[in-house]
Amino acid sequence: MNVPLLDLKRQYKTIKNEIDASVAEVLETQGFKLGPNVARFEELVAEYSGAKRAVGVASGTDALLLALMAYGISDGDEVITTPYTFFATAGSISRSGATPVFVDIDPVSYNMDPAKIEAAITKRTKAIMPIHLYGQCADMDPIMEIAAKHDLVVIEDAAQAIGAEYKGRRAGSLGHMGCFSFFPSKNLGGYGDGGMIVTDNDEKADLLVSLREHGQTELYHHWTIGMNSRLDALQAVVLMVKLGHLDDWSNGRSANAEYYNERFSGSPVMTPHLEEGNRHIYNQYIIRVTDRDGLRAHLKEQGIGNAIYYPLSLHLQKCFASLGYGEGNMPESEKASRETLSIPIFSLLTDAEKDHVATTILEFVNAG
Ligand SMILES: *Cc1c(COP(=O)(O)O)cnc(C)c1O
Repeated sequence: MNVPLLDLKRQYKTIKNEIDASVAEVLETQGFKLGPNVARFEELVAEYSGAKRAVGVASGTDALLLALMAYGISDGDEVITTPYTFFATAGSISRSGATPVFVDIDPVSYNMDPAKIEAAITKRTKAIMPIHLYGQCADMDPIMEIAAKHDLVVIEDAAQAIGAEYKGRRAGSLGHMGCFSFFPSKNLGGYGDGGMIVTDNDEKADLLVSLREHGQTELYHHWTIGMNSRLDALQAVVLMVKLGHLDDWSNGRSANAEYYNERFSGSPVMTPHLEEGNRHIYNQYIIRVTDRDGLRAHLKEQGIGNAIYYPLSLHLQKCFASLGYGEGNMPESEKASRETLSIPIFSLLTDAEKDHVATTILEFVNAG
């Protein structure tokens, strides 16, 4: 039996009528640039994430870069983040002109270890960019406390975490700004690229509105240099349909996670830790085993989709060589990149598929 890591065609079948109708409407009007659909979707995302304002942009990566730009972060500044994340987190820090400063992760949550932040703060530090990796929020209370003490901005990389909760509050509204991605494989994924920034700060939100259109406030009048980074109206209508189903889908992922947790309990398979008081949206369900690469080969033989997020810690990437990090500097990130594996978790997995995934994994670890 073949089990894909993610099957978006299955999802499309369940919403095809709604999607096709809203896309057709945009095509009829030929209104592709911003407009009422983008504005409405921004309001819905602001409300959904418990923030005052939302600004739609062209991708999650742009959301991160524009958030940094909105706080004037640039050459000579430092931004603290972790090396165990998708490239865009550190990539956007570098693109802003600032230097990414890495702190290691907590090996249980895979998120930023707040105990390691203060040692990384210098006179140049301007911001902290925690990632809510795999769909569970970073430990934001201590992060916000440290930020307040040192007068730092906190920009959440919430690309994988729309709808995730930390002590009853939603991802994106926990820091000063939160960044979402609508890349197709995220829980709320568009049909192409898209992103959004949420914040309670009206002044910064207005600034972002200007920055996403070349720093203009009035057509062809530019008071600063921004970017071309708008959310397409076509993506907005697709995402609005999907937002109506998002909680069902995220809860379905959660139910699948509970199924796996039960199947793997008492085995050598380490399952994701769910911190008390959190809502995890399981953008990825990550297991951890010592012979990860052996397990991968076994899963491939059995037709089970899987992926490594992420195989090479960012502090060891060639493009960051000039930052001066080396092997052994971030031991928990490095170890996680050798031992973790993402397995199928999407909400429309069948019972037979889930059973096949769990059985195949247990076969391998119990034989080993
Ligand atoms: C997906 C993702 C991004 C970037 O989003 P894009 O929309 O693909 O640009 C940034 N950070 C993390 C952690 C992500 O998973």
